[in-house]
This record gives sequence, structure tokens and C-alpha cells, in this order.
Amino acid sequence: MGLVTRILLLVAIALLAFFWIRKMLRAGDPSEKNPAQPAQPDQVGDRPQDLIACHHCGLHFPQADAFLKDGRTYCCDDHAKAGPKTNN
Ligand SMILES: [Zn+2]
Repeated sequence: MGLVTRILLLVAIALLAFFWIRKMLRAGDPSEKNPAQPAQPDQVGDRPQDLIACHHCGLHFPQADAFLKDGRTYCCDDHAKAGPKTNN
């Protein structure tokens, strides 16, 4: 076996190992499990939750905890019943 052949074989093995390790690393990456969602690393973490304001007291809270009434959002049921402060 010539020296050039040996070097080429070593390079081929190194490349195979490189791609195999990269494939293994990708398989363990949880971000690769959601290919439907495009990766947006700049935006992830900036807004973990959408904060909205209560129309009665102005308190900011997660949208998931909102009380809806007449298309407006409130922090609690009491404020939803009281309505927007500006109209009172
Ligand atoms: Zn409120």
C-alpha cells in the first residue's frame, strides 16, 4: 500500500468519523425534533410569554391567565365584572 493511498484512507476514515459524530450529536439535539418550526434563536427568550394589560387596573400579566369580557382582557374576574376603568 502506497503512502498516498494510506493518507487518502486515513482522510476518508476521518471524514466518516466526523460526519458520524455530527449525526450522533444532531440526533441528541432536541431542537432537531421540531423541523416544522423554523429556528429563530434571536427571538426565543425575548418574549417567553405574551404580557397584556388589565383594562381595569392596568396590571400586566400573562395572556394565558386573562379574563375576557366584551373583547377586553382583565387580570381577574372582579375586574372583568367592573369593566374598563376609563369608562367608569
Ligand atoms: Zn385588573
